[in-house]
Amino acid sequence: MGECVIIRAGLAQAREQSSGGDSGASAYMATIMAAKGSELIIQSVETKHYHLPLTHPMTDASHGVMTHFEVVLVKLETDCGLAGYGYTYTIGCGGAAIRSLIELNLVSALLGADANCIEQLWDRMWWRMHYIGRGGLVAFAMSAVDIALWDLRCKRLDLPLWKLLGGYSREVRAYAGGIDLQLEPDELVEQTRCNLRKGFRAIKIKVGRARLSEDVERVRAVRQCIGSDTPLMVDANMRYSVEQAISAARKFREFDVYWFEEPTIPDDYKGMARIATEGGLPIAAGENLHTVYEFRHSIEDAMIAFPEPDVSNIGGITNWMRVANLAYTHNLPVTSHGVHELHLHLLAAIPNASFLEVHSFGLERFIKNPPTLRDGVMEASDAPGHGVQFDWEQLRQYEKS
Ligand SMILES: [Mg+2]
Repeated sequence: MGECVIIRAGLAQAREQSSGGDSGASAYMATIMAAKGSELIIQSVETKHYHLPLTHPMTDASHGVMTHFEVVLVKLETDCGLAGYGYTYTIGCGGAAIRSLIELNLVSALLGADANCIEQLWDRMWWRMHYIGRGGLVAFAMSAVDIALWDLRCKRLDLPLWKLLGGYSREVRAYAGGIDLQLEPDELVEQTRCNLRKGFRAIKIKVGRARLSEDVERVRAVRQCIGSDTPLMVDANMRYSVEQAISAARKFREFDVYWFEEPTIPDDYKGMARIATEGGLPIAAGENLHTVYEFRHSIEDAMIAFPEPDVSNIGGITNWMRVANLAYTHNLPVTSHGVHELHLHLLAAIPNASFLEVHSFGLERFIKNPPTLRDGVMEASDAPGHGVQFDWEQLRQYEKS
């Protein structure tokens, strides 16, 4: 315990000195090197479950009207007093089960372990839960733990997540991820104008209405609003059959759609490949894929052009980076889904980043330092760790026992 406290104090002191000259910088580096190799023993695992109301109901083509979302939070405390935070979210149900999985099945795999050995702990969790897992709720539970482990590692090394993972570019292009299937074209245009005023330079809207003509009118209205140079994405949330999706893609092509997201269920690899080739639009998918193997099939067999892993349900940062590297080897960019405050760091870390989806179900209301947008770009911060600081006072009223 004492060693870690000394290292933290040394880092702060050396960083202060480093502004004064070469000797200070050397001391800083020497302290970083001294920190290497020291164990970081997990002494406690705390979980919390929140049921958070949305500011207004949201609708997509498959999940209906959403009024709440859930956050399951994990706090890992170590023998030196350092704490790491991780979390996952749901669109209204399943949170209690995820929390139970962590408390009943993962905590015992973590207590007493060295938090530096993230790959080892990830593998331990994976195989402990493999028989009932290989995705699903287990992937959500592992995500929350894994994110907390990476937060710890960053804090121990006094580095922001985006730099620890690779440090490619702190600036990431962002788009407004609308959950807006309920809006009529004039309302959609008003929402779009509002997003442009906020600084967005790329827009995504939902499609998947009962009649394709309604979808076409919505896409047409937004394209006319934003002009020809602003990227426009559409998201069907798996609503179409393969034949419907091919017809829709051919209609949407007129409006220069940047990507067509989840046109059908992600499990239909052959169908998805047909939509890509016969529909003629790049396909995005990933929020409903929970293993790297599903991503491999989606890239190699389903021809998705924009993999979009969600760090909160793919098994955390460890697996998100595996998908990013898989995409890299296939010469593909990577985009994201939800929790943009975390994905900002991940996309800033890699060379093959596409757009960052800006949408967290309003979670920014419960974060003290949400990232800000300027002229279509968000910047990852240099705070150690993932940098997300929750407003515990705001959250407390929504905590589930
Ligand atoms: Mg989507």
